[in-house]
Amino acid sequence: MQDKFVSILGVNFIHTTMKDMVARLRKRLLNEEKTFVVTANPEIVMKTLEDPTYKQYVDLADYVTADGIGVVKGAQILGKPLPERVAGYDLMRNLLAILNEEKLKLYMLGAQEETIEKAVETVKREYPNLQLVGYHHGFFNWEDPSIINEIKEKKPDLVLVALGVPRQEKWIAEHLEEVEKGVFIGVGGSFDVLAGTVKRAPEIWQKLNLEWFYRLLKQPSRWRRMLALPHFALKVFGQKLTGKS
Ligand code: UDP
Repeated sequence: MQDKFVSILGVNFIHTTMKDMVARLRKRLLNEEKTFVVTANPEIVMKTLEDPTYKQYVDLADYVTADGIGVVKGAQILGKPLPERVAGYDLMRNLLAILNEEKLKLYMLGAQEETIEKAVETVKREYPNLQLVGYHHGFFNWEDPSIINEIKEKKPDLVLVALGVPRQEKWIAEHLEEVEKGVFIGVGGSFDVLAGTVKRAPEIWQKLNLEWFYRLLKQPSRWRRMLALPHFALKVFGQKLTGKS
């Protein structure tokens, strides 16, 4: 089946459900097809508008999924609705389950040293059949090739990159050509959630599409970053009026 895309402010989102996306990535994992996934929220879309180099990184992705209710609403406003949110954290959990089932190889990159250690413990406990071939914290020297060399040598099937935006997409885009295989995905603050240092919004908040508000209450310092949301909404209305994507 041909993939369908919805362009929001120049970013091409895949028209998919979580279930279909997971099935697609399962296939690519098993076929060893190199894949770059971006789970994009309004903040990422706004960043592509401000930073052309970042836009080039995102354009390299095989799939951009709608992470955040803002993107889903944006698509609706444009009259090109997307079926549902495909959030990074949930997608990561689904991919870890596939790795566990198929005994595939994982590499984890990112977060503070004590956070990644705790996240690794969680992964080992909850997914005992996957093979964790390596991990590294996210505060390394970018000129040092030892991390990418380790990945090239160990050939993980999945590489989770939790360096935050824009670093994670930049890191993946810069190294993708060097590797033979692997699904590479930027997962933002997901290791902090795996480690238990940051709590995900309770399900009811997620269901009410208020996860963003929960995060703001828990980490008020994020307010400035959240200004991306109203800016995004304005831009989407602009796209609707001009018809330009
Ligand atoms: N991080 C990192 N290296 C850096 C900067 C950030 O590993 O140079 C990690 C940070 O410790 C956190 C994750 O990236 O675990 C996500 O950071 P942030 O909350 O800034 O990004 P977001 O989740 O909003 O994308």
